[in-house]
Amino acid sequence: MRVLKAFLGAAAFAGVGLMFLGTASARSPQQGEDGAKLKIFFVDVEGGQSTLFVTPAGESLLIDTGWQGREGRDADRIVAMAKQAGLKKIDYVLITHYHEDHVGGVPQLVARIPVGTFIDHGPNREMDGGVTQSGYEAYQAVLAKGGAKRILARPGDVLPIHGMKVTVISADGEFIKQPLPGGGAANQFCHASETRPADATENSRSLGVEITFGKLKLLDLGDLTWDKEMQLMCPANPLGKMDILIVSHHGWYQSSSPALVDAIHPRVAVMDNGETKGGSTPTLKTIAASPGLETLWQLHYSVEGGPENNTQAQYIANPAGTDAGYYLELSGAKDGGFDVFNARTNATKKYAAPAR
Ligand SMILES: [Zn+2]
Repeated sequence: MRVLKAFLGAAAFAGVGLMFLGTASARSPQQGEDGAKLKIFFVDVEGGQSTLFVTPAGESLLIDTGWQGREGRDADRIVAMAKQAGLKKIDYVLITHYHEDHVGGVPQLVARIPVGTFIDHGPNREMDGGVTQSGYEAYQAVLAKGGAKRILARPGDVLPIHGMKVTVISADGEFIKQPLPGGGAANQFCHASETRPADATENSRSLGVEITFGKLKLLDLGDLTWDKEMQLMCPANPLGKMDILIVSHHGWYQSSSPALVDAIHPRVAVMDNGETKGGSTPTLKTIAASPGLETLWQLHYSVEGGPENNTQAQYIANPAGTDAGYYLELSGAKDGGFDVFNARTNATKKYAAPAR
């Protein structure tokens, strides 16, 4: 310890202390002073969703489980992430909806790590006779075994997770009736959003949540589609402003209306796109032009977006042509400040707490 202190002192004296500290923080972002932070791991499931939240007390919430099959690739990646975060079980697994890139990984996940409670929006509404139905049935079979509890979520519910507040915004096509604190004002961005036909798939049923940790606010609406965004956000914005947006629907153009993206005014957006899934050019442009946006982070380079529409290379976890499964990790503080760590580059970008 004394040697380390002496070295730090010498390094600071030499004017390179900051560099040294930056490297140390990148190597082990969940240790030391980060103990009081909310950790959010954006697992790369190649164009599906899987986002792991771990509170300072070690309580955990996983939003979606990635794809089935692929020899358990996605479940393996989630479990590796959970172990790195010090977890032996996942307390809550929230299923946004029953498409295969969200619920598909459930059977393989429960075969690898215990799950305390599943949370969902109720029955599958998309009888496609294919992967959506079979994915839902496989999930029901896991629930029927009785190893985990299950919560049916309704808009306005606050989920029983300690250490952060998880409020249900949307579920089964319905929305919160009362605005959140800071919400309720007229939405000036509705006029810039075209009207689109109703989406009849499970996407529109997505179980969406707001997560707050002290002053830090994050929004994840699953794959909620454009028409539902307009219903939720117009004419008044019930959500107010958010610090972090998990971009809906992997950045596909069927979601991310200006009425949603611009109105919530995110500082950072994180897109769980694959190389050829999501990451649509119009959506990349909408997010880049969003007022107040400091950085778009992407799990993958988007082939469709090309060099002119993808975010800068250092904010992409997995560059073109790679499938190495690099993750992004966000560490949030209660004062509203946060860091984002890119596991590929080992670099961390800091976002200071806003003056408010
Ligand atoms: Zn999806």
